[in-house]
Amino acid sequence: METMRGVVLPGNSTVEIREFPVPEPGHGQVLVKMKASSICGSDIRAIYREHLGEGPEAYQGVIAGHEPCGRIVAPGAGCKRFREGDRVVIYHIAGCGVCEDCRHGYMISCRSPLRAAYGWQRDGGHADYLLAEENTCVLLPDNLSYVDGALVACGFSTCYEALSRIHLSGEDRLLVVGLGPVGLAAAMLGRALGARTIIGLEVAPGRLKLARELAVADHVLESDETAAGRIMDLTGGRGCEASIDCSGAPAGRLLALPGTRDWGRCVFVGEGGTVSFDVSQTVIHKQITVYGSWVTSLKHMEDLVERLARWELRPERTVTHRFPLAEAAEAYRLADEGQSGKVCIVFDE
Ligand SMILES: [Zn+2]
Ligand SMILES: [Zn+2]
Repeated sequence: METMRGVVLPGNSTVEIREFPVPEPGHGQVLVKMKASSICGSDIRAIYREHLGEGPEAYQGVIAGHEPCGRIVAPGAGCKRFREGDRVVIYHIAGCGVCEDCRHGYMISCRSPLRAAYGWQRDGGHADYLLAEENTCVLLPDNLSYVDGALVACGFSTCYEALSRIHLSGEDRLLVVGLGPVGLAAAMLGRALGARTIIGLEVAPGRLKLARELAVADHVLESDETAAGRIMDLTGGRGCEASIDCSGAPAGRLLALPGTRDWGRCVFVGEGGTVSFDVSQTVIHKQITVYGSWVTSLKHMEDLVERLARWELRPERTVTHRFPLAEAAEAYRLADEGQSGKVCIVFDE
């Protein structure tokens, strides 16, 4: 029996690399040779440090990695579209396929017991091969790399969905709170969608430095007690028409909301925790709309890869560290420090 390596996360900030049999694709499934498999903040927050998740975020001891991208090496029987040799991003949740959410393409929101996310409830991308449902594959355009594709599988798509949800356009100035990999993605996509002025906030020195080097925002500010005032100074005392919280931190959310202009829109994508604020002063009297947005749909992921190709916008710009699978422990340790850009596990050709 042919075997492969796969990463399992025991939940005590360690990484185990184990041997697994190479899976056989069943009906409607494809075997994907992994080429790039990046680490998401959710992997750190809900799996690596400890197994925190419940429901759709419950980690079931499977091979980790929910940002997979690779090349199909063996389509199973009954595949209708994808063939051997196709380069694919994996939409990272396999839903039941027939509920209302799945039919809208939002397999992320599927509530069937059959729903399984790669890297959470079924084997994910930190392995030499991944067994994927054909209906979760998204064709990767030729001028995007496998690393670009991995970043689309969760982070970039999540930002694209959120910015589309608030109808970001050239009429808007955009406030991005948190400039980790998701915030960098939000700023890059915000620019591509037309935002004229982009203000980014971050607390981690390493990430502030990176955001400035990448020049993804017009103003990169340290997220300290002066930040709220500086947002107002930069926007004529009004705040930004649109804002996105990528920090997942109460303090970050409490900058995103007041940094939003009256009648503006604020979307939360940073996961976890809570937030507490004066509702009248912060939301009602400012007439602002607050959105929650969770991952994306299959359709919007297909839209995004098409647009990235057309815009010649390369997500891999945000990658600061690449590791082979054998060094997954170091990759996770580094991602957990929260000072870097995106960390990606890459595979030889
Ligand atoms: Zn993710
Ligand atoms: Zn479903």
